[in-house]
Amino acid sequence: MRVVLLGAPGSGKGTQGVRLAARLAVPHVSTGDMLRHARATGTDLGHEAVRYMDRGELVPDDLMVGLAGERLSRADCDAGFVLDGFPRTVFQAEQLDKLLERAGVSLSCVVALEVGRDEILARLAGRRTCSACNRPWPRAAAQAAAGRCTCGGTLAQRPDDREEAVLRRLDVYVEQTGELIDWYSRRSLLRAVDGTGDLGQVSSRIAEAVGVGGAP
Ligand code: AMP
Repeated sequence: MRVVLLGAPGSGKGTQGVRLAARLAVPHVSTGDMLRHARATGTDLGHEAVRYMDRGELVPDDLMVGLAGERLSRADCDAGFVLDGFPRTVFQAEQLDKLLERAGVSLSCVVALEVGRDEILARLAGRRTCSACNRPWPRAAAQAAAGRCTCGGTLAQRPDDREEAVLRRLDVYVEQTGELIDWYSRRSLLRAVDGTGDLGQVSSRIAEAVGVGGAP
């Protein structure tokens, strides 16, 4: 299965993407995680991307298309993938279509996770993220874990989870990624899913939406 997960920052894309990929036994491909890794390891891409990420802006399309294209062309994606955070613009979606077309395959569906603005702001204000494995932690869980991830990494606030950047990311989502919802809807690929409620409930709704509902 080839699934794209769309959703505003803080909608649970990362957490649900990991769970869905495990369920489908395909890689979870997160362009945000790839950029954070590039940044942490000090690559040229990381240096370039950081200027956009910390302000809550999108990294330019040409960089992102190259990055995602290279990752999706690897053998482990042959049987499918869950794409989280890509595409984010109609141009990226068109390039993704071309890439898949060249490989003789197509997307199975696009899941749009829906969470209201107030809930998103509350989630992101308290979110902490592991600097080693990127796992997101809600405020209460991060406090209970005394700032340490189960992998041993340190929990910290992502620079782009600061209020100013969050507000910009939400605007960018509405302005640029919002168009994608219509674009995929016109192609009958879109499945809107309520992203509120507990983790398991949301995972079940997503599984249902992509057609793998029922017991795992
Ligand atoms: P995420 O972890 O998906 O919220 O991504 C974090 C940040 O990485 C975004 O706010 C963007 O600055 C950048 N980013 C990730 N994926 C993309 C993409 N497909 N296009 C442009 N920028 C991206």
